[in-house]
Amino acid sequence: MYDINTLIKSKKNKQEHSIDKINFIVNGFINNKISEREMTKWLKAVYHNDMNFSETVNYTNAIINSGKKIQFKNLNGYIIDKHSTGGIGDKVSIILGPILAACGCYVPMIVGRFLGHTGGTLDKLESIKGYDGLLPINKFSKIVKNTGISIIGQTDEICPADRKIYELRGRTNTVASFPLICGSIMSKKIAEGIKGLVLDIKRGNGAFIKDSKEANKLGRLLTLIGSEFNVEVKYINTNMDQPLGKSAGLLCEIIECIEALEGKGSNDLMEVVFDLGELALKMAKQKKSREKMLQVINNGSALEVLYKMIYEHGGDLKQIRLNPNKSVDIFSNKKGIFKYINTKEIGNAVNFLTITNGKKDIHAGIQFFKKNNDMIDEKDLICKIFSSNSKNIDIAKKMIQQTYIIND
Ligand code: URA
Repeated sequence: MYDINTLIKSKKNKQEHSIDKINFIVNGFINNKISEREMTKWLKAVYHNDMNFSETVNYTNAIINSGKKIQFKNLNGYIIDKHSTGGIGDKVSIILGPILAACGCYVPMIVGRFLGHTGGTLDKLESIKGYDGLLPINKFSKIVKNTGISIIGQTDEICPADRKIYELRGRTNTVASFPLICGSIMSKKIAEGIKGLVLDIKRGNGAFIKDSKEANKLGRLLTLIGSEFNVEVKYINTNMDQPLGKSAGLLCEIIECIEALEGKGSNDLMEVVFDLGELALKMAKQKKSREKMLQVINNGSALEVLYKMIYEHGGDLKQIRLNPNKSVDIFSNKKGIFKYINTKEIGNAVNFLTITNGKKDIHAGIQFFKKNNDMIDEKDLICKIFSSNSKNIDIAKKMIQQTYIIND
């Protein structure tokens, strides 16, 4: 019906795509009528020339319509989800999801894999032996109903277009585009059948968005897209000028989530969890939200929800043990004030360690011992890098040594 090269050219000339043209592009790509090369050119044209609001709504809808849309009936609680625009060590979804479920909400959560330099919630969960993150939607819905939460990735059944486009964007440097981010996030969230959504827009030298002004602009756009589909959206923007929490990787982040639900989460991580949780529980019309969240952590019910979800997904709870056979420590060579200057490169190092040539090393990751503005002494431990492969550790060590400075 249309010619993709003509559409790429028209986008390069900043012309608006009609709804039919957007459907043609999204459907053409999933049906293999538009090649990866052509789609990359189109994504780059959008990346450089933007799409307007109605194009972004139509693009989101085209991705939703590439699969099924879930409609929950007879659930006795608010149906809500949380999503982030992507960070390093950002494990908030795996902590907050069970907390919200333990507070009586229902959380059907569709997430992505690693994207560019950022980590992926699905990759982290799949590092648990047996965890099936690609369940059919009838099983996904059943787990949501019985456990309060289920976390899966995009599948052939739900948002298949996002699965394919997301993976291509990660390889072609076309992630940091507002309409592409909106289509990707909101399609998954609308298809999963929620009523409310809380968003964490990451900003800083480890994020796709560099400052608060841009982060709020994206937050407003995501909120408006949500309202077009009757999903209430609230957002905060949070700092990604350093890794979040104590670790970044695969299994090590699951262990950190368990510790957080045992009440041992680090302050920076729990601040994001609680801020988003307060927004979410307010939307669910619950009062005393902070007390409730502390209660479900202290009485163990949030951790129980996480364990139950992992079990329902086939995950082996006994295998959540970190066992890397190689590790290296990085120490400070001087006294001063510590500061990360290139958090994005830490993300690159983590993704390199954990997913090399498509092969996952579930035991790989980095543990962080210093935060921005910490006083540091000579020979203080800055971080520990672990992996199953010593060559990878050496490369990652060189990468990490470029990511921070120690000021006098
Ligand atoms: N998360 C998503 O699901 N998609 C994006 O494009 C960015 C973050």
